[in-house]
This record gives sequence, structure tokens and C-alpha cells, in this order.
Amino acid sequence: MDFVGIDKFSILDYEDKISCVLFCKPCNFRCPFCHNGTTVLEADTTIPFQDILDFLNTRKGLIDAVVVSGGEPTLMPDLKEKITALKNMGFLIKLDTNGTNPQTIKELYEEHLIDYVAMDIKNSFEKYPLTTGTKCVDIEKIKQSINYLISSGIDYEFRTTLIDEFHDIEDIKKMGEMLKGAKKLYFQKFVERDSCIQKGLHEVSEAKAKQFVSVLQGIIPQINLRGY
Ligand code: SF4
Repeated sequence: MDFVGIDKFSILDYEDKISCVLFCKPCNFRCPFCHNGTTVLEADTTIPFQDILDFLNTRKGLIDAVVVSGGEPTLMPDLKEKITALKNMGFLIKLDTNGTNPQTIKELYEEHLIDYVAMDIKNSFEKYPLTTGTKCVDIEKIKQSINYLISSGIDYEFRTTLIDEFHDIEDIKKMGEMLKGAKKLYFQKFVERDSCIQKGLHEVSEAKAKQFVSVLQGIIPQINLRGY
């Protein structure tokens, strides 16, 4: 399975690093606010992996890291082989994931193939179906991924894109319970784009987002806004 998109230069996707971002197609969620709607639902052209390796060969010493993003990368059957090839080139590897495949996260970390994980926390568990556009979400798997990231020693962040139609103060309190022991959570500002799966959703205001942050202060040591 090949990647379907590439952002050749990013200073936003891996904290304090210059990275190249690779996007894969499959995703088991259909988050209405997804910016990669065209990637997740429609992409039918792929980039040969050898072309990506050839490009990255020209970027050695110029970028620090490769971000493997999606879609949901852990659905790629040959993810480990591809990440191994990228890692062997000397790049740091960041994995973006929705947390539905804890076993893959564990294997990649324990085989020293990933350096950083960004896991989406979509909402309170009760609102996962609404927020992911997916009726049957295996919440146990999400819990396992959360617990693994908190306890494994890997460098990680949790992140939530705030949507006014989906997130309220009660959800944020429940997220505080879900993420007890976590070190870092970002509340990200939603920006509507043409590529979103559902049109007409709205960002949470800065004042409300700050209120959400205050609810989790004292529970999560690093709780920050991103994009506000
Ligand atoms: S935002 Fe949702 S639908 Fe889009 S790639 Fe991430 S998990 Fe999949």
C-alpha cells in the first residue's frame, strides 16, 4: 500500500523539528471535520514509495523528521517495512494516529521505529460515534492506546480538534477522567476547508477554549491551545 500525499516541508507537524509529512489513504473513521476528506475518501492515485525514498535522500541533513500521517497509518499492512526504510535513512519518525490499533503502536515503539506519537482524542467516549462519524467504535482499543502512551515512556501528545457542535464542558470534564496521568494535551482550533467531510461545522471560540483548558489544569500538566 502506498502513500497518497506528501507535504515536503513542514515546521508545524513535529514540534521543534523540520519534517516531511506523508499521508496514507485508508481510515476507519469519518470524522466530519476531517481536513483530509479528499485523502480519506477519494484519493485514487498513489506515490510510489521509491519516489518518496529518492526525494528524502535529497533532504538528508535538511529535514529532521518524517511524519507518517493519514488517513490512519496503522491500517497499512506494510507500515512497519516502510517506517523501517525511513528510519534507516536517519530520520526521526512521528506517527499520527487515531489510536484504534494499540498493538501496532506498541510494536513500532518497542522495535525503536518511532520517536513521537500524536494521538487524536476525539471527544468523551460517549461522543466518539458522533465525532468520528462511525457507529461502531472499539473504545477498548482507544483506552489501550491511551494507557500505553501514558505508561510506555514514549514521547507523545494527545490532541483534540475542538468543534462547537460536538464539544461541551461536560465532555471536557470526562476527557479529564479519560486522560488521568497524561502529560500533554493540545486543544486545536478547527478551520473549515473545502476538503472537510462535512460542511458547516464551527470552531470553538477562544474564550470557550480557554475555559476548557482551565477545566483540565491540575489534571494534565501541559494543556495548551494550538492555532488560537
Ligand atoms: S480526522 Fe478522522 S477521518 Fe480524518 S484521518 Fe483522522 S481519524 Fe481519519
